[in-house]
Amino acid sequence: MACLFCDICDRKVPSDIIYEDSKCLAFRDIDPGAPSHILVIPKKHLASLNDLTEDDSAIMGHLMICAAKIAATEGLSDSGYRLVVNCNKDGGQTVFHIHIHILGGRRLHWPPG
Ligand code: 5GP
Ligand code: ZN
Repeated sequence: MACLFCDICDRKVPSDIIYEDSKCLAFRDIDPGAPSHILVIPKKHLASLNDLTEDDSAIMGHLMICAAKIAATEGLSDSGYRLVVNCNKDGGQTVFHIHIHILGGRRLHWPPG
């Protein structure tokens, strides 16, 4: 099954990778919506939030912790930032390999559009 983010993990598609460990990868969004816009993905293919089971608890927790550490590395901890996971059409999901957006570096609006 073709998946853009699996291809980014496998280096078949180039990206600006800023963090990697055995379970996850983080790279800069190609079309940033904020001065810092980074995507954190599991290396395991999971299409969306709808596909998660209890077995994925550890990996999803790991992604959150990595996202907070990456935000710190980006210098966003004090000013603040937002983590977003879009799901399906109404959520605005366009790539069906689960990913956490890290958005920061400017004041973000609430609620999102
Ligand atoms: P979604 O809309 O699914 O929540 O987020 C998908 C994100 O992936 C979008 O913000 C989009 O800009 C980003 N994106 C799509 N294609 C690529 C790509 O080839 N490389 C990178 N780095 N980001 C991508
Ligand atoms: Zn995938």
